[in-house]
Amino acid sequence: MDSTFAAVTKQGGTPIGDFQLVQAMLADQQVGVSAGRALVRDAAQKYVSGEDRRISPSVAKLYCTEMAGKVADLAVQVHGGTGYMRDVPVERIYREVRLLRLYEGTSEIQRLIIGGGLVREAKKAL
Ligand SMILES: Cc1cc2nc3c(=O)[nH]c(=O)nc-3n(C[C@H](O)[C@H](O)[C@H](O)COP(=O)(O)OP(=O)(O)OC[C@H]3O[C@@H](n4cnc5c(N)ncnc54)[C@H](O)[C@@H]3O)c2cc1C
Repeated sequence: MDSTFAAVTKQGGTPIGDFQLVQAMLADQQVGVSAGRALVRDAAQKYVSGEDRRISPSVAKLYCTEMAGKVADLAVQVHGGTGYMRDVPVERIYREVRLLRLYEGTSEIQRLIIGGGLVREAKKAL
């Protein structure tokens, strides 16, 4: 967890987690993860009930995979120069999450599914 790293890593004798700008990065990570989890639960619920099996899964896939990239990027930032080193897990995570926006439908394809689905629904409701 980046919060643990921030709580124990010191700069000038002060834990970096005491710096408010570092706390802001941790907050942005947490908001992204919490929102992603909520979207996944929402998509799963709508899939099981049959309410929506097309738009919600794409919304969750698009948001979570883009968010994962942002969260990993913030993780590197919290780790400072160490986060860029090959032998540190956060560097591997930063590199590997990039794939999530490509397979199982690229971000562009998810947007096409969402946007197309919304227009189709609007036409149906006319
Ligand atoms: C490590 C890895 C593992 C993989 N594992 C699997 C697997 O197990 N099973 C499997 O089936 N596939 C797998 N793939 C393939 C993966 O699903 C495809 O790479 C992915 O779907 C993108 O297709 P593509 O590479 O042909 O790119 P393209 O479809 O050529 O896309 C290139 C770019 O054009 C955009 N684009 C394409 N079509 C449109 C359109 N109509 N409108 C707007 N933009 C568009 C894309 O969003 C992307 O930005 C894997 C890929 C990788 C890298």
